[in-house]
Order: sequence, then structure tokens, then C-alpha cells
Amino acid sequence: MKITRVRTHILKAALSQPFAYSRAWYDTRMAMVVEIETDQGLTGWGECYGPARITAAAVETMAPWLIGQDPLRTDFLWQTIYANLRDHGQKGVVIQGLSGIDIALWDIKGKHFGVPVHQLLGGALRTEVQAYATGLYRRRSGDPLHYLPDEAASYVAEGFKAVKLKVGFGVEEDANVTRAVREAIGSDIALMVDANHAYDAVAAIHLGRTIGQYDIGWFEEPVPPEDIAGYRAVKAALPIPIAGGECEFTRFGFRELLVSRALDIIQPDTCAAGGLSECKKIADMAEAFAIRYNPHVWGTGIAIAASLQLLAVLPPHTPPSLAPLAPMLEFDRTEHPIRQAILSAPIEHVRGVVRVPDGPGLGIEIDRKALARFAAR
Ligand code: CA
Repeated sequence: MKITRVRTHILKAALSQPFAYSRAWYDTRMAMVVEIETDQGLTGWGECYGPARITAAAVETMAPWLIGQDPLRTDFLWQTIYANLRDHGQKGVVIQGLSGIDIALWDIKGKHFGVPVHQLLGGALRTEVQAYATGLYRRRSGDPLHYLPDEAASYVAEGFKAVKLKVGFGVEEDANVTRAVREAIGSDIALMVDANHAYDAVAAIHLGRTIGQYDIGWFEEPVPPEDIAGYRAVKAALPIPIAGGECEFTRFGFRELLVSRALDIIQPDTCAAGGLSECKKIADMAEAFAIRYNPHVWGTGIAIAASLQLLAVLPPHTPPSLAPLAPMLEFDRTEHPIRQAILSAPIEHVRGVVRVPDGPGLGIEIDRKALARFAAR
């Protein structure tokens, strides 16, 4: 089997209402989908996290190195692309582009052998995954002390056992909304907070000490990704588990985070950190360091499916026991018109639980009409 074509699809959709996290407002959602064709009629799909037009340029730069190659040689092709761009792209959009390619190759591999990707990654440890609701962003109008607790309560009513709140809007405001959301969801639901690295260590420690009383599941990206010493300071000062890693790349990047013991939970994005090949390696490294792994997910159904294939084979956080603590799926509940529309069958949760797709490859089918509908000009 040989690769005959590599295509990129830049997708864009306007939002009905803008929303904000600590560093910016969103009024559109974009996605970058990779399609790889073979001479045997098999097509693989991948997705790149990151700025769509730049990741598309990265994939188009890599495409000639793939044409005529055997798509089943996933590690060989990963090494080839990484080596070709090593001097210029050990992190960032180059690795994000490589991630989308690698995921598409795994989709082809699974389809070729007629099995889901997780079977080729070692076999499923679990067939369904507990999802947590990512939402609780800021709106243009209304009082966050009212709409955030309401939104959080709606996730609990849907059956979610865990929700994640955006912080990074100033320590006092963060503390007020954290208290209001905790009161709305009660004590049985896990509550995580995510600052999207809007703070330095001083402010992050101040916030952590203020909200520690609200039983916080983890404090995500308290400080910028480059500030490993800041992470270590925050982790040492707070009883709250510290999470991060959606802005880190490859086994080489995560080696530094793991060795420095800067985090309790790493969150590589499968569509950014190097794809399924690399994220499995990072997961094995994390297990050796006894550091938890929960994938970051912020994409379309392709990203969700790829993350679920990986989640199926991730080790439990805690050693084997009668009640092991399993990794969770990040399930983005914000508006994303493209997310499920490009799948022939949406990936939905039932009372906060998502089934791992068990069809060949990623276990999804792409709706080409939807791809055309959201094509960015
Ligand atoms: Ca995050």
C-alpha cells in the first residue's frame, strides 16, 4: 500500500455568541483536518490543534515526503518528518502538523487491519470513559456569578460527574465564581479550574490558597508553559493537584516536565503533541514517573475519536486495584458548529460517559458535505 495524496481542509464557522477565556475572545471556531489517500482506496483522517492556516502550511510542506510511502510504517514516517524539520520545529506548529498526519496514518492502519486503533496500540483497558464538561467561559452580557453556576448545574443535570471552570480573571473574581459554582454543583461533583496560564506563580499561589477550601480537582495551566520553576513553586505551595501540558510537544518536551516533577497531571493534546504514536510514548513515560495523564481535547469529532482511542489504552492513574482511578475525557461543551457536524454519527455522552469507538481505524466516518459547508475561503 502506498500513500498517493495528502490534503488539508481548513474549516471555519461563526459562533452565535462570542465567549472568552482568560486571554481572548472567540467569535469563530476553526479546525484543520488532514486527509490521506492510498492506492488501495483507504482514506485516513487526522486533525491538527493550533492555528489552522499555519498547520495546513506545515502539513503541505511535509506532504511530498509521504507520497509513495507505506502508510503502515507510522514510526518510520514520524521519525522522517521530525528529522527533516528538527532544526526548525521541535515544538509548535510543525509538531501539530505532524500530529494530524500521524493520526490519519493510524486511521488507515486500523482500516487496513479491520480493527480499531486502540487494538493496535495494545488493546483496550476500557471500552468507555468518564467525561468531564469543559465550559463555563465568559459571555458578553450577564453576571458570571449567575450564569456560570446555572451552566454548571446544567452539566450536572446532564449526568456529568466533573466540570471545569475557566479562571484567570483576577484572583478575587476567580474566588467568587469558584465559590458560586461549587455551591451550585454540590460536594459530590469534581470541580477543576483552568487559568490558561494567565498568572505568574505569585498570583497562582494566591488564587490556589483562596480556593483550596472548595475541593479543587486540579488547577490547570496556572503559569506559562515555559515557566517550569513557576510550576514547581505553585505545586510546592498548594495542596491542589497541578495540571498542564497542552502547550508541550513530543517525548522530548515532556521529558523535561516529568523529570522536573513540575506537574501532578500532564495533558498532552493528541492533535498537537505528536499524534497517537508520540502520545502513547509520552503516556508510557508518564506511567514510569507515576504522573497522571489526561488528554487535552479541543477539536472536532476527529480529535475526540483520536483521544478516545488513546484513552482506551492509557493506564489507570492509580495502581491496579478493585477501584482504579481512570483517566477522563475532556468533553468541550462550548459552541462548535463543526465539531459533530463533520461526523456521520456524532460522538455523544450518556450521563457523562462516552463509549470508545470500536469501528476500524478511529471508528468514525466523515461527512464530506459538512467539510464542504465549513470550508474556509
Ligand atoms: Ca486548558
